Amino acid sequence: MRNIFRDFLSLFFPDLCVVCGDRLIEGEQHICTECLSSLPRTNFHLQPDNRLEQFFAGRIPFEHIAAFAYFIKGGSLQHIIHELKYKRNAGIGNFMGILCGENLKGSDFIKSIDILVPVPLHPKRQKQRGYNQSLKVCEGLSEATGIPVDSKTLIRTVNNPSQTKNSRFDRWKNVENIFSLSDRDTFGNKHILLVDDVITTGSTLESCAKEILKSEGCKISIYAVGTAN
Ligand SMILES: [Zn+2]
Repeated sequence: MRNIFRDFLSLFFPDLCVVCGDRLIEGEQHICTECLSSLPRTNFHLQPDNRLEQFFAGRIPFEHIAAFAYFIKGGSLQHIIHELKYKRNAGIGNFMGILCGENLKGSDFIKSIDILVPVPLHPKRQKQRGYNQSLKVCEGLSEATGIPVDSKTLIRTVNNPSQTKNSRFDRWKNVENIFSLSDRDTFGNKHILLVDDVITTGSTLESCAKEILKSEGCKISIYAVGTAN
């Protein structure tokens, strides 16, 4: 049965595509089909030694690193990430996670992953935003792949100040030692997929990865919805 009340409401408050602003048609969620198909996908998950792996080489030991799409200033992914981080649209995080999960399914990149771990937000920031956007992406990834999420073991201990005005070295110093493990055994002998929304300097991911790798026999891969690299 069609939801007449919802249809009636949508005459006045139609669901709009967060990228182009066009009205969504039945079956579409958050992003219209056209904008969805024009997202600049990287396909890095199919390319060993891709640009992101080169970017992190020598900084941390990792198995694989990939991102779903390129994050370009003014581009479609920027609209999506803005919606996710500043418009309290948690649903789009889940939606993007499912999209990423469908994209990764069956690839060597995802095959040996045991646990999905979101980059933790400080509780204060999470309270402001209402949710951790990386956790929302993880939940979508989990829905598509069946891999469990752990958002309790890796925790953030210090709320670092805004990073926008700092140099790369300052940023790295800012996030050094701000993560810790609530339990050293959980990630032992597991292959962890550390998940973020967008990869920019990589310093936060680097810091998280170093902490996770303190677990014995643990391996790590990294994934993000977007990459600025
Ligand atoms: Zn659109």
